[in-house]
Amino acid sequence: MKEAKSPKYSRILLKLSGEALGGQARVGICAEAVRDMAEQIREVRGLGVQIVVVVGGGNIFRGLSGSERGIERATGDYMGMLGTVINALALQDALEKMGVATRVQSAISMAQVAEAFIRRRAVRHLEKGRVVIFGGGTGNPYFSTDTAAALRANEIGAEVVLKATKVDGIYDSDPKQNAKAKRYSQIRYADALQKQLKVMDSTAFSLCMDNKMPIIVFDLFRPHNLRRVVMGEKVGTLVTT
Ligand code: UDP
Repeated sequence: MKEAKSPKYSRILLKLSGEALGGQARVGICAEAVRDMAEQIREVRGLGVQIVVVVGGGNIFRGLSGSERGIERATGDYMGMLGTVINALALQDALEKMGVATRVQSAISMAQVAEAFIRRRAVRHLEKGRVVIFGGGTGNPYFSTDTAAALRANEIGAEVVLKATKVDGIYDSDPKQNAKAKRYSQIRYADALQKQLKVMDSTAFSLCMDNKMPIIVFDLFRPHNLRRVVMGEKVGTLVTT
């Protein structure tokens, strides 16, 4: 497909799962995977697009799995949120080494390592061309970083939430189990709900739906895919009204 000349979006929110930073092992931090993600972000920043990244923490800790092993849910969730800050710092380091100016803002106060989340300040950073990385999720247990992504996208006026995954969009059934699974290039929020397609957790999804925030689910493991999405190519699945 022929590429449009200018990007389709001027301000995006990219949701990176913790697993994406864990590489093949999906746990811990894989320097190469972090570099690959950073490289895609650098490429899109080079197009003049303002970028906010919300990082997950599943490669380090998830509150729910902690509670299955006897850790109080809220405590486990705070552990998970701290994990997202570790990921945010890893991504910041990789981006800065590539010459991309960044700021990390955390929803949990951590003055020595990150700025506090201040909406207007985040927007100012974006206007100055810095990539803003949000760590700490929403700052509240019982939520997810997908919810943080939906919330922050609305707060900072992003035009779209780009949810990076390992599959190239949303299918009508699991493509790993069903060879005939069909990928949607576009689907309405109501249809995704009715078909019980797991796009995001329900809190995150309804926050997007209620505020008409489009979501694009796409495969960030394919080189240059973030650029393709931002340029308006039909990559992944668009969830919209
Ligand atoms: N978490 C939380 N509140 C938030 C965001 C995250 O309690 O607002 C905790 C929760 O325990 C979660 C963990 O942090 O399991 C890691 O985040 P998430 O599972 O969303 O990461 P991802 O799946 O994107 O790697």
